[in-house]
Amino acid sequence: MAEGAERAAGVVVVGGGLAGAKTVEALREQGYDGAVTIVAAEDELPYERPPLSKGYLAGEAAFEEAVVHPEEWYAEHDVDLRRGTEVTALHLEDNEVELADGGRVPYTSLVLATGAEPRRLPIPGAETALTLRTHGDSDRLRETFGQGRRLVVIGAGWIGLEAAAAARGAGTDVTVLEAAELPLLGVLGPEMGEVFARLHRDHGVDLHLGARIAEITSDGVRLADGSVVAADAVLMGVGVSPRTGLAEAAGLAVDNGVLVDAALRTSHPHVFAVGDIANHDHPVLGHRIRVEHWNTALHQPETVAAAILGGDASYDDLPYFFSDQYDLGMEYVGHATREDTARVVVRGDLAGREFVAFWLDGEDRVLAAMNVNVWDVVDEVKPLILARRPVDVGRLTDPGTPYADVGG
Ligand SMILES: Cc1cc2nc3c(=O)[nH]c(=O)nc-3n(C[C@H](O)[C@H](O)[C@H](O)COP(=O)(O)OP(=O)(O)OC[C@H]3O[C@@H](n4cnc5c(N)ncnc54)[C@H](O)[C@@H]3O)c2cc1C
Repeated sequence: MAEGAERAAGVVVVGGGLAGAKTVEALREQGYDGAVTIVAAEDELPYERPPLSKGYLAGEAAFEEAVVHPEEWYAEHDVDLRRGTEVTALHLEDNEVELADGGRVPYTSLVLATGAEPRRLPIPGAETALTLRTHGDSDRLRETFGQGRRLVVIGAGWIGLEAAAAARGAGTDVTVLEAAELPLLGVLGPEMGEVFARLHRDHGVDLHLGARIAEITSDGVRLADGSVVAADAVLMGVGVSPRTGLAEAAGLAVDNGVLVDAALRTSHPHVFAVGDIANHDHPVLGHRIRVEHWNTALHQPETVAAAILGGDASYDDLPYFFSDQYDLGMEYVGHATREDTARVVVRGDLAGREFVAFWLDGEDRVLAAMNVNVWDVVDEVKPLILARRPVDVGRLTDPGTPYADVGG
């Protein structure tokens, strides 16, 4: 294009995380040749966050390994990546976004990929705690690790537990304070929450369950009973909130994320949302779901690109996520709530932490599966979830029976 020439408006992506980077990649792969801009608040190349609480936090992996594409990729694919630039308003009536410096960027289609941000408990001193979302957060947390140093982690969710494992690996004394009766209780239920409680205790974590936290002080964390858990650093891992401020201010439909249809289109026909921010009408699950996991940010962009290009697009992948803690690696596929689950059954060695767990409803239909230190089974168990038919539980839990033969 000639210098100084105005380029026709194209696709603007707000947010330079995994979902944003994968959206522009999918657009180019699917043949879109119009203008593409990513406006990214972080002054970084788009990167993946899972290593920030695992290999990168443990000092075992370089940050570059987490980067989605090298810098030259964006120029080679004619993508205008504006790092360190924030979108401050959406002007849907003008098809423009407004930047922090007051400039405006026009679009024909707009993709919101603004992700999520860590929550903080509403207690005195909460603002002094570390959180873990960005490259810089991971660096700051790692600096607190070391023999004889004391880290208190508030919240036994995925981020808190992974950070605890990395800290223990560096010899740090770790206390985890969790309000619920077990770690991960809301996501996995009591049977599997117990597995993670044992895992961390076996690795020397002082796990306080049912903890009532009153305050974060300069000495540590004060509990409601007046006792103080001494700490050199406190990490707050109590979940994230979707960054919906822009969408709300622009009048888009928002309810626990930006509401999108099966094609990831918001309540405005030219505006889409992907990744952690998207509350998606899932065609297979038959209800809305907002998934705060890597796989969704990785794959929803293919659907959004197809929808922008006018295709008959629909995102119907089952929710999937993974975690690594110490020598435990796991994957989870499907979606089971405690209300839907009648029982959890196990194939393999639960005590030895090498098994596949299945969440079953009252009619023995598989809602979800989690493989722990057992690999290459996700593609085999997915059809059981998708079939929505009762299984023979004896065969399901028999390690000798192929998954294809467990139908009821
Ligand atoms: C430490 C950590 C470990 C994780 N580990 C796992 C794991 O093991 N397995 C798993 O499945 N998932 C994991 N996740 C979750 C996974 O990383 C997220 O689901 C994923 O990052 C979501 O991608 P996203 O692009 O939607 O959002 P984000 O990654 O949050 O990216 C959004 C980007 O948008 C930018 N932005 C926001 N507002 C604006 C604005 N107004 N203007 C411009 N830019 C803006 C933000 O700065 C951010 O860079 C982990 C997350 C974290 C934080």
